[in-house]
Amino acid sequence: MSEKLILDGNVVANAVKDELRGRISALKEKGITPCLATILVGDDPSSATYVRMKGNACAKLGIESRKIHLDKQTTTEELLATIHSLNKDEKVHGILLQHPVPSHIDERKAFEAIEIEKDVDGVTSFGYGQTALGFGKYPSCTPAAIMKIMEHYNIEVNGKHAVVVGRSPILGKPVSALLLNKDATVTTCHSRTVHLENHVRQADIVIAAVGKPNFIQGEWIKPGAVILDAGYNKGNIGDVDYEACLEKASAITPVPGGVGPVTISMLLKHTVDSAEAAIGE
Ligand code: NAP
Repeated sequence: MSEKLILDGNVVANAVKDELRGRISALKEKGITPCLATILVGDDPSSATYVRMKGNACAKLGIESRKIHLDKQTTTEELLATIHSLNKDEKVHGILLQHPVPSHIDERKAFEAIEIEKDVDGVTSFGYGQTALGFGKYPSCTPAAIMKIMEHYNIEVNGKHAVVVGRSPILGKPVSALLLNKDATVTTCHSRTVHLENHVRQADIVIAAVGKPNFIQGEWIKPGAVILDAGYNKGNIGDVDYEACLEKASAITPVPGGVGPVTISMLLKHTVDSAEAAIGE
């Protein structure tokens, strides 16, 4: 059996964070502390955990995190007012509205209210459009993480056939755009795709972004394919049937410890990028 490359997200995340330390120190010498504002609406325990993890990651690196926790009865207008005030606050460099918000809130309207300069999580349609056109500063963090992992491990994208399973606005669609911009030939599959497995069978690169545990089967994988599993399901289970796919793949991300840690490091990077941009660097 040929050597398998396990794409270790913690290694990549640490490399990203190491690169940020000096930049954060340089900003602090100029009296600027990069600051990420996180907004959590309601009391969904998973969302609270995600926000806490992001806050802890900021703290470890010396990035300020301003945590705004709004009651689950918050109206769209109240949430918009919070976002507007963060947009105006010069000390805040990035705004993250934790998805999902309670269903009575117009989440899309709230995302769109985030100023493009502070859209470090890549949730606005403006940011998505810029990403698709190839000059977006802050693509969504999970797509950015997937690209970063391939860059770190020198995985060739140019000319390869990438099959993305999933087309959500924060994951499948933007990662398809980023791959296309790196000269991959991209197939994007979704719940209405017919004979999905036949598309996956042709893939040099498989991106799993479905939200269904162990969905991608080993027998669908072309020998030597590279697999990036963005899935994160209950019980720390990815969207890829890991052991079966490992047999066929040349490289694969584990879950946990694959795409997840790099996603957080990209959020930190975008916040530092935004703090530098705010002073014209
Ligand atoms: P989502 O919004 O639920 O989108 C899922 C996508 O998968 C949709 O486009 C859907 O197609 C498609 N899909 C569903 N069932 C399918 C099927 N049977 N065959 C083919 N396609 C199917 O989920 P998401 O937010 O993109 O997240 C996807 C996964 O990534 C989840 O496990 C999530 O937890 C994980 N995630 C991880 C991170 C991280 O940091 N690691 C960040 C974000 C998300 P339709 O469009 O046709 O409905």
